[in-house]
Amino acid sequence: MTLEIDAGAATDVGRVRERNEDGFLDRPPLYAVADGLGGHRGGEVASALALQTLAERVKGPHDLVDAVHEANRAVFDKQARDPSVAGMGTTLTAVIVSGDELYVAHVGDSRAYLLRDGELKALTEDHTLVQELVNEGRLSANEARAHPQKNVLTRALGIEDDTEIDEFNVAVRAGDRVLLCTDGLTGMLDDGDIRRTMNEEINTQATARKLVDAANDAGGIDNITAVVLDVVTAGLQRHDVPKIRRRSFRWPNPVVASLVILALCLFGIRVYLDGRWFVGVERGHVAIFRGLPATFAGIKMYGLSEETDLTVEALKQNGALVEGGEDELEQGIPVASEADAQRQIETYRLGGILPLSPTPSQSPVP
Ligand code: MN
Repeated sequence: MTLEIDAGAATDVGRVRERNEDGFLDRPPLYAVADGLGGHRGGEVASALALQTLAERVKGPHDLVDAVHEANRAVFDKQARDPSVAGMGTTLTAVIVSGDELYVAHVGDSRAYLLRDGELKALTEDHTLVQELVNEGRLSANEARAHPQKNVLTRALGIEDDTEIDEFNVAVRAGDRVLLCTDGLTGMLDDGDIRRTMNEEINTQATARKLVDAANDAGGIDNITAVVLDVVTAGLQRHDVPKIRRRSFRWPNPVVASLVILALCLFGIRVYLDGRWFVGVERGHVAIFRGLPATFAGIKMYGLSEETDLTVEALKQNGALVEGGEDELEQGIPVASEADAQRQIETYRLGGILPLSPTPSQSPVP
């Protein structure tokens, strides 16, 4: 089965910065985020130039790292030539999905995460001073989050003529969700917040938007960028339908719906049958039944209401049953009400003579 990527992306200036120096690429099968650094317009120029160079140079998963080296060189050359952007640089976290592998190239403190079976795992490691202290066991992950120097990078693109690039690949499968993001997201939201939002939202675009909104709600002190990639089986893009549509109307589970309809039908039939009466035979005795003298699909459409002491044998002897009357009685003789059934039985009991009853058939039912 061929895997495809369903991508959504969002970027925002945040609530404090004046310019958005973040950038992202959404050029299947290449996806990337970049967070520019440097005064004036340097940051914007660096991230845009790195992404543009990467997109132009990359041919496939196996030259991803070479293309990132070229992006480094392009940014370095530009800032070396142009004093207005001197000292600029950028982070870059780029992925290519090929076959069932995710190829990753990474420099700086933007991040790639993998959400699989509801669990979120960081794929990249920040190239920051603080992360080095964590690796050396001198700082806990929690202390690192609040550290005043957490933004100090140990590596970035464009600062030197060449730079070390982290590269690796991970096997992916349908159902996996990958997040690429800048530190404006991870500085505002912890991994638990990110995991919850990644699990809550179905649509990739809505998820990216929601992550960015959450970072803004938490303060938005930096530019925020999120690229959400769903690994799907080709032709089966389950996540395409925006969640808002799924929520606004959802057909009930067909099994539940069928059971509800069946229950309503049975209830209706039951009400109908409860208003029907007939006189018939039960174990050789004349009896009153509720329902219809029939079976449907093997189910009796009636129930015994009262079995009298009057036997069919006695009726044959007292002449109450005219010719064919016994068969008719066996099959059930419909009557209008229980009172009529009682009256019919009295008639039988009296040998076929209508009883001199003061209560005619249309007497009100008690
Ligand atoms: Mn940033």
